[in-house]
Amino acid sequence: MAARNNREMKILVADDDPLTRRLLQETLEHAGYEVIAVADGRAALECFSRKDGPRLALLDWLTPEVNGLSVCREIRRHSEYPYIYLILLSSRRAKEDILSGFEAGADDYLTKPCDLEELKARLRAGERIVKLEDKLTHDALHDTLTQLPNRTFFLERLALCVVWGLQHPDYKFAVLSVDMDRFRVVNDSLGNAAGDWLLVQIADRLRGSIRRDDAILRSAEEGGMAGHPEEIGMLARLGGDKFTILFDHIRDASEGIRVAERIQHNIQAPFYIDGQGVFTTASTGIAFSGSGYSAAEDMLGDANTAMSRAKVLGKGRYEMCDPSMHATAAGRLRLETDLRRATEREEFRVHYQPIVSLGEGHIIGFEALVRWQRPEFGLVMPGGFISAAEDTGLILWIGNWILQQACRQICAWNQQFPCSPPFTMAVNISAKQFAQKDLVSQVGGILRDSGLAPDKLRLELTESVTMRDEERTTRILGELKALGVRLCIDDFGTGYSSLSYLRRFALDVLKIDRSFVSEMLNNSESQEIVKTILSLGSNLGMEVVAEGVETPEQVSRLKALGCDFAQGYFFSRPLDSAGVVRTLVNSEQNFYTLPQESPGRLVAPVR
Ligand code: C2E
Ligand code: MG
Ligand code: MG
Repeated sequence: MAARNNREMKILVADDDPLTRRLLQETLEHAGYEVIAVADGRAALECFSRKDGPRLALLDWLTPEVNGLSVCREIRRHSEYPYIYLILLSSRRAKEDILSGFEAGADDYLTKPCDLEELKARLRAGERIVKLEDKLTHDALHDTLTQLPNRTFFLERLALCVVWGLQHPDYKFAVLSVDMDRFRVVNDSLGNAAGDWLLVQIADRLRGSIRRDDAILRSAEEGGMAGHPEEIGMLARLGGDKFTILFDHIRDASEGIRVAERIQHNIQAPFYIDGQGVFTTASTGIAFSGSGYSAAEDMLGDANTAMSRAKVLGKGRYEMCDPSMHATAAGRLRLETDLRRATEREEFRVHYQPIVSLGEGHIIGFEALVRWQRPEFGLVMPGGFISAAEDTGLILWIGNWILQQACRQICAWNQQFPCSPPFTMAVNISAKQFAQKDLVSQVGGILRDSGLAPDKLRLELTESVTMRDEERTTRILGELKALGVRLCIDDFGTGYSSLSYLRRFALDVLKIDRSFVSEMLNNSESQEIVKTILSLGSNLGMEVVAEGVETPEQVSRLKALGCDFAQGYFFSRPLDSAGVVRTLVNSEQNFYTLPQESPGRLVAPVR
């Protein structure tokens, strides 16, 4: 029976003499150690390089190939190994030999034949040193209150991920920076001891939030950097009420977000201190590896910036960031605030771009394009604010407002400039707008209020907007069609539409994306795409409008290919309503002069 239980301490015995090896192995196993016995120095080194390798070693000086002395030197060269206590065994008793053993890195030196009781006593001394070393390492890398990894440990781990990420673009990881809201109130009102107690409870709940469950099982199974087999990330305490979590081997942003939401949920339940319920919330910032961080500190810094933003935006929430966020965070914040105010002050304007028939060159209708008259910035184009409007949900108000303006406006022009058939009005509908439950009744209401004939309104949708939920899309498009409005697919060719998709949704108009039109004359592939879209439209009985037409050569080629309608700077830039009225008054029959069939002759549009 083993004298002591040393099972957790592995010991390596390296000796080329089988008898000595066997004797040492049996003695040490009897003393309770887990023994790995090898015959030469190379095998010994191989054992140390493994994870969970031995922490104690008995090395015979004279092992073949790589001798005990060289093994000592080699081990000391590897600073990444945990501390290994090395005892050299040798029959050499000369003082110089003993000294050179210590010089090489040995902790102890025993001469052969050795007394087995003395050997065990020396090993016990070695064990004490290894354990002390482990404690020092642990304390240097852990927070004493929660026993979680500290900032140094966290950054060390994160640095490994960053290096690996630079070499392997598919490897993705995320950092969550979590800060408790109003924690100081607890410390100030209940005292520091209560604050400390609460932090330990919070650490427990955070740990619970990164436990594996079915939804996030995958990352744990792929061997993520979890500190515990049940956990899918590494939780650390940076100090105070600031925690961080590192996830690696994640698929995409959604995994980080899922955990952030779980944290939000778990933290908001009350904590009870002496029967008194204490409530807190957490603000979380998320940084993703995708954009190639080269320093762990930068990534943690970005997660912290996002976390601060979550605080500014109302606490108890999470915010994501990307590398460009550094510079844009403040600007974006201001943009969103200003946008909110812009809806109250109605700072938006609608510009109208004519859509022209390529047969005679007359205007058949207009596309409404939003602009923002932003104080101090001037007229801002949609590219500068539509995505922020989408993110904040303000697009719903803006979209509805534009629809009203555009419908009223086209009714007014159709009265002022009667023509046959009357002008149409195209209005862009964003993804968020399309997702609204009451979109159809909104459109119906605006049509009724403005008195516009439904078939004069064209709603422009992009492929991505309509592809999300096929069943719902089919239903909503059907209801819109039932109202009598016309449906257009905008920027056609840039998404993933299939033929069956176009047929199923019974769309009326295809708008060829500007990128194909602008490349059409010097790129045969673009020209082929334009041709294909035109024949697709004709086969399905749809109208086709070419977008972004800028030159007479493009007009001629489009006409030659059988395209009936176009829109672009060649005819007119988007104009404010006064500009449209001027154009309609000046060109009596509302038409533009088209280039002659001989391409190359430049004809200026009528103004
Ligand atoms: P879009 O619907 O494809 O609109 C056409 C864009 O191309 C407009 O840009 C227009 O000014 C521009 N354009 C027209 N002809 C030419 C040309 O010959 N050359 C060039 N280089 N550009 C031309 P804009 O007004 O900046 O709008 C950009 C996008 O913003 C629109 O693309 C649309 O997706 C979105 N947008 C505009 N207004 C609204 C709106 O009221 N609601 C929503 N949800 N989105 C809008
Ligand atoms: Mg459009
Ligand atoms: Mg477009």
